[in-house]
Amino acid sequence: MSSVAKNAYTELVSSVRKTFNTGKTRPISFRVQQLKNMEMMIRENSNEILDALSKDLRKPKLEATLYELEIILNELKGLIKNCKKYAEADKLPVNLLAILDTAYIRKEPYGVVLVLGAWNYPVLLSLQPAMGAICAGNCVVIKPSELASHSAKLMAELIPKYMDADAYRVVLAEVEGTKDLLANKWDYIFCTGGTNVGKAVMQAAAPNLTPVTLELGGKSPCYVDESADFDLAAKRILWGKFANLGQTCIAPDYVLCSKNAEKAFLKVANIVLKEWYGDDLQGNSDIPRIVNPRHCKRLKALLETTRGKIVFGGTTDEKDLWIEPTIVVDVDGDDPLMQDEIFGPILPIITVNSIQEAIDFINGRPRPLALYSFAKNEKMNDRLIENTTSGGVCVNDTMWHMAWHGLPFGGIGDSGMGNYHGKFSFDAFSHHRSVLNRSFSVLSEKLGEARYPPYTVGKLRFFQTILKSFEFFNCTGGKYITHLLAAMIGAAIFALITYSG
Ligand code: NAD
Repeated sequence: MSSVAKNAYTELVSSVRKTFNTGKTRPISFRVQQLKNMEMMIRENSNEILDALSKDLRKPKLEATLYELEIILNELKGLIKNCKKYAEADKLPVNLLAILDTAYIRKEPYGVVLVLGAWNYPVLLSLQPAMGAICAGNCVVIKPSELASHSAKLMAELIPKYMDADAYRVVLAEVEGTKDLLANKWDYIFCTGGTNVGKAVMQAAAPNLTPVTLELGGKSPCYVDESADFDLAAKRILWGKFANLGQTCIAPDYVLCSKNAEKAFLKVANIVLKEWYGDDLQGNSDIPRIVNPRHCKRLKALLETTRGKIVFGGTTDEKDLWIEPTIVVDVDGDDPLMQDEIFGPILPIITVNSIQEAIDFINGRPRPLALYSFAKNEKMNDRLIENTTSGGVCVNDTMWHMAWHGLPFGGIGDSGMGNYHGKFSFDAFSHHRSVLNRSFSVLSEKLGEARYPPYTVGKLRFFQTILKSFEFFNCTGGKYITHLLAAMIGAAIFALITYSG
């Protein structure tokens, strides 16, 4: 990257910061209008977006519509409706010492936010964080993934046409350019990508102590108990694994089950996959493609080196970026398939002889983004949840929790930090600023004056009594009569104690 381009990024960030400092993006009406503009952009250009997604990943129309466009529109609807409510300050109860004061939490934008999108859901993963940042009143620079170049270019073309071009910008950059962009001072960085990308981003954020949300990946385990409903479990697991040809951060990475459960699972899987895809899977337009030759080679190498036995699929065609939906059994924990997140349509099944073995297996590896448990026996699901950790959990299904309104979405440990979606997005991009507004009144000063030297036993006793009465006298700021009453009681206690001290 040339120093000219580096300087261009520095100028871009400084120009966006100037816009933020004007206060332009703060009024609720402005935020809502911008979100409505984004909605219009999606609606008016849905065909162009579907076309770009098809060029990038050969996404089928149904998958692109449901898993990108509809999620975006639904999220926008919620943010437009609730922006004002989310932005309201939270009034807090005050205690006796602050009886005439008001305490509240302001929701303030951080300032200039950088959003780094990933390639697997390239439009969704750039716009969903960005809309949360806009709703919270920030300026935003979006850097979509260069690996989904058609979608990235389209966003760079559309966003300035529909949205405020001073406050919201799109930068197209490859990895080196992204590093240069990251080297600038940001007020918040939101990154979706692999664990290594997350580490690079956190390092880049450290010199400026910039807060980050990292939406990363990892190997999400799927436990299938012998008590599961196998007809449904198999369908739901295969859907989660093979949608977007396995290139989903919360796709079930591998299955843990007993040999009996495996047999029941495979029986249904063979029927279901035939029903879904027929005999010519590569010719089936419902199946997308691997994003690029590098990832296709990586997945092919996994199929070539696994010590497991392929019981379904297994064909590859690099020229067509094709990896067939594949199931592999007799896989052990050290197998090549179990080293990194698979991020493709290969489902290894690992035999465990008890739920405890499954729990130990999961706990022996980095903390996953999602955990799936299939059992009719609820005690098994509870036991798995109770004894493991993960970003999120979905019981008796896969991936469904991601789109469930009201649930925060994010990882833990290697799978990320922070979360978003709906109100959680607003909060992720808001600084929660504490404000205590103290009164100058005589009574207020009287209640607080025992803090001043000289320190006496009476003053100490006064504070201890007041602290004990906190819970009892808690009242919400703004309720004047309650304040007055509590103030009188406080003053009486103060007088009594000082007198007796
Ligand atoms: P990617 O290559 O698209 O990279 C993600 C972003 O990081 C891009 O904008 C890219 O330009 C930038 N980037 C890449 N390398 C960088 C570096 N060294 N320094 C700074 N920036 C860099 O995506 P990827 O990492 O291949 O994405 C796949 C991973 O993302 C998988 O692990 C998947 O599980 C995870 N993912 C997570 C979520 C989630 O919501 N948690 C969603 C989608 C994907």
